[in-house]
Amino acid sequence: MKCPVCNYKETKVVDSRLSSEGCSIRRRRECLKCEKRFTTYEYVEQVPLMVVKNDGRRQAFDRSKILSGIVKACEKRPISMEKMEEFTSEIERTLQKKYDREASSKDVGELVMLKLATLDDVAYVRFASVYRQFRDVNEFMSELSGILGKGKVKKK
Ligand SMILES: [Zn+2]
Repeated sequence: MKCPVCNYKETKVVDSRLSSEGCSIRRRRECLKCEKRFTTYEYVEQVPLMVVKNDGRRQAFDRSKILSGIVKACEKRPISMEKMEEFTSEIERTLQKKYDREASSKDVGELVMLKLATLDDVAYVRFASVYRQFRDVNEFMSELSGILGKGKVKKK
């Protein structure tokens, strides 16, 4: 596993633990050259879920894309990286349970939005506004109020 900072190939594992559900192993690694610490996960390989885009093209589900979207949405919010990683795994598990091999990119986006609404209100609004940026604002607002109306947003 290459260091994400300096690309050096030798790292050591400084911590290793099983996730609470017992289906993944989280390892903290340290680069032997620059000493940067980073996290890797080990999972059982599963049949990849394909995401069908609006134009009909298919792409394998990419959890790192979801995670980076969540990280952006949660910027400066009191949410730990660990929490965001768990959150991403939860999204992935839900998609794999709910869909057989294929989900539309809309399904994925909607699921992330709905789940974010239960995690953090600010992150939810940020994600929703980015997710919808190429669509009509009125459409966004009506869908947003539709979601809010269903009582999916946890009130603080
Ligand atoms: Zn390094």
